[in-house]
Amino acid sequence: MHDFQYKRSALHAEDVPVEKIANRVGTPLYIYSHRTLLRHYNAFENAFDGYPHIICFALKANSNGAILRALAKEGCGADVVSGGELYLAREAGIPPKKIVYAGVGKTGEEIRFALKSRILMFNIESSDELKAIDRIAGQMKMKAPVALRVNPNINASTHPYISTGLRKHKFGIAMESALENYLLARKQVNTEIKGIHCHIGSQITKVSPFVDAVKRVLSLVRKLRKSGIDIQYLDMGGGLGITYENEVSPYPADLAKEIIPLVNKNDLTLILEPGRSIAGNAGILVTKVLYLKDSPKKKFVIVDSGMNDLLRPSLYEAYHHILPVKKSRRAQVTADVVGPICESGDFFARERTMNSPARDDLLAIMSAGGYGFSMSSNYNSRLRPAEVLVKGASFHVIREREQYSDLSRGVRIPDFLK
Ligand SMILES: *Cc1c(COP(=O)(O)O)cnc(C)c1O
Repeated sequence: MHDFQYKRSALHAEDVPVEKIANRVGTPLYIYSHRTLLRHYNAFENAFDGYPHIICFALKANSNGAILRALAKEGCGADVVSGGELYLAREAGIPPKKIVYAGVGKTGEEIRFALKSRILMFNIESSDELKAIDRIAGQMKMKAPVALRVNPNINASTHPYISTGLRKHKFGIAMESALENYLLARKQVNTEIKGIHCHIGSQITKVSPFVDAVKRVLSLVRKLRKSGIDIQYLDMGGGLGITYENEVSPYPADLAKEIIPLVNKNDLTLILEPGRSIAGNAGILVTKVLYLKDSPKKKFVIVDSGMNDLLRPSLYEAYHHILPVKKSRRAQVTADVVGPICESGDFFARERTMNSPARDDLLAIMSAGGYGFSMSSNYNSRLRPAEVLVKGASFHVIREREQYSDLSRGVRIPDFLK
């Protein structure tokens, strides 16, 4: 469910016509709905209400400071994977005790920053990292709070690039090595064991992989407790899917209904790390049609946004609905919707049938609120788009469109070239 709907024939973001925002701010342009964002977050809160839990929004889905602040005001925590995300989470006012930090390649500097910030816990991905964190915590005369990210070897049956819970993936520690690593953690004097973590993948459209993963992790928790290792937090990661095309994903309540009875009476606080399911359908990317091109084999709709703004179609062959900002009655065409970038992989849709757009028409690429702007780049030296947050009848620019001068920011010309 989202708040990008037609009123008569004009697409609206909540109560604001999308065309009005595009005319004011220009294109390409990300638009987010405050109402959708909060509804998605609160769906998790309500689902797990009554059971001890923390919802930690995965910043990598969308780390705009205004989006983060909106979530922080509702009580949301953060799942971060870099020093940069930790910085943004703190800047948005997310309490450190609601921040967890994952990632296979945390640097010494990032670890120090997180220790200084007194985050809830590090989700540790290897024994090498476990040792490094202990060493750094020792230098800082602190205790590092840790959970080990275990790899429950679950096939989440999602796209191979966003599946993470199999033995062959670089993430986490194998279940068989978990006990030995926990024993190492217990021996380390500057380490404090807090919990256990798993994250099996993304865009998962069934409850069963989560249930299987939690069952496996719970049996490990029991084994660890028998060895005298206390686990307070069970972090079950993120990964709940959304509707891009016609997938039907479970609601957070469906997840809670299956998970809570499993973890109940285990004296564990649950952590969830949803990213896509909160932000994905809370945002759209608005682009303008530049040209229509008929080649002998194919028709193309060339738009002013490209893979540098929204990478998902190029990277994952992901499907996104593309809607006209103003409905037309023109004849249908089947065309590729492509961007201006010098790559054949620069497309938003292939062989898409739609009412024939005309030059200067606006198109809305749907479900772009997660892994949209956060994966954007300046490739082809294109300016990254503006972002707008809509709340009811008002809209607010939450990131200015880049300017040409941003492209050379930080560049230094050595003397011998002057
Ligand atoms: C990417 C990621 C998430 C968020 O995944 P979604 O599919 O967006 O919910 C959560 N936790 C970890 C460790 C991740 O890497």
